[in-house]
Amino acid sequence: MTSSCVRKLAGGERHAYTIPTESRALVWPIRKEDTVTPDKKKGQKHIVLTSHPSTFGARPSPIVWGHSEPRQRGPVIATLTDMRQRNTIGTHGGAYAIYRALAVASGSLQRDHRPDFTYTAPVEPIGPHPSWGQPETIVSLDPFGAVVCEAFADFYARGYDIRPTIAVTRAHINMPELQDAVTKGRLSADGTILLPGGDIVVTKAAIEPVWYLPGVAQRFDVDESTLRHTLFEQTGGMFPELVTRPDLAVFLPPIGGLTVYIVGSVATITDPTRPLAVRVHDECNGSDVFSSDICTCRPYLVHGLEVCVQAAQEGGTGVIVYSRKEGRALGEVTKFLVYNARKRQAGGDRAESYFARTECVAGVQDMRFQELMPDVLHWLGITQIDRFVSMSDMKYKAVIDSGIQITTRIPLPEDRIPPEAYVEINAKKAAGYYTEGPVPDAVALATPLGRGLEE
Ligand SMILES: [Zn+2]
Repeated sequence: MTSSCVRKLAGGERHAYTIPTESRALVWPIRKEDTVTPDKKKGQKHIVLTSHPSTFGARPSPIVWGHSEPRQRGPVIATLTDMRQRNTIGTHGGAYAIYRALAVASGSLQRDHRPDFTYTAPVEPIGPHPSWGQPETIVSLDPFGAVVCEAFADFYARGYDIRPTIAVTRAHINMPELQDAVTKGRLSADGTILLPGGDIVVTKAAIEPVWYLPGVAQRFDVDESTLRHTLFEQTGGMFPELVTRPDLAVFLPPIGGLTVYIVGSVATITDPTRPLAVRVHDECNGSDVFSSDICTCRPYLVHGLEVCVQAAQEGGTGVIVYSRKEGRALGEVTKFLVYNARKRQAGGDRAESYFARTECVAGVQDMRFQELMPDVLHWLGITQIDRFVSMSDMKYKAVIDSGIQITTRIPLPEDRIPPEAYVEINAKKAAGYYTEGPVPDAVALATPLGRGLEE
């Protein structure tokens, strides 16, 4: 199946990445002595522990992280269908691996199912960019993750089970607030980027995290051993290879990934003569999807899209990066506990105690750690952002520290802030968020605002 899939891809599908024919491929065949005899006893589940390679004679295909030529970089292989092939800790699907386990356990999914990737190739070529060949620039995703079928065709032909960690497709999106922007004359339909009915035509990419552990450790200024041990501990010992397999440097963490929404031409993202607008947005389900009014997340997401459409209509591109880091990566349970604590505290809900109440519950104010966020911008080949649609000082610092220039920062216009969200926005402005207006003074920060829990 896989080899025919590759043939179909090579025989007329649109190519996102072409391997230069003159490039010298490094090939790591499965050695005959590595072969294990499958246990075919009916009903018996044969568990192969990968925590100690000597038990099954593994010699994983090397990954030369940061190599610009994919076959010399080597594929990331996290298959569970053939444990001998694995060269990676963890598995695909992030948190959804657990649902896959339920599907297998309940008998609805064959444990050795291999995907048929026919017709799944990216709709739009992205890269390769010079950043793909810099081991320290991208450490939390696989730049070749969208093009594994083409880049590693020879591996598929030899029976390897390699899965894409990036998928690129096209869509129309429509958010009702943008109709308001059209009505008020801030936006106008052009028939290709913004359609008369309010649809925005986008290219979108879903990206699963792929962590190069030495690079992630370096990004956080910790030693790799500390990072591995802490990941092992804090997942309840879920991935023993973190501590037993120092030879495996790549980890697929069981966390949410991110989605990139591109408005306008993908090709002009890297054109310095065209405007580029970028918003990096962290998930807030309550506001983003359900329009809860306690924060500014959805209004800022919509404003980001508005700025993206304008940049695209000027011949440039707009990019929204949507990261699954719900509630500052503390999760919704913590978030809702904090809402209650804020509303019930003596003196009422006010900006001066906004971060402190979070810290009381979570132990920290924020666990998003923007250090890894710029990787996706480098994957897109971005070196300069003309309009950065974010007030976050942490995101701004992370982006410029990663070597990307930012020309203009675009705050959320005052008239988009829900009255209930002033506790949040005032607290953030006082803590260093970018604003073109006044920073709230001590009196404003101490003033209780917003509804009570019974209202
Ligand atoms: Zn929010």
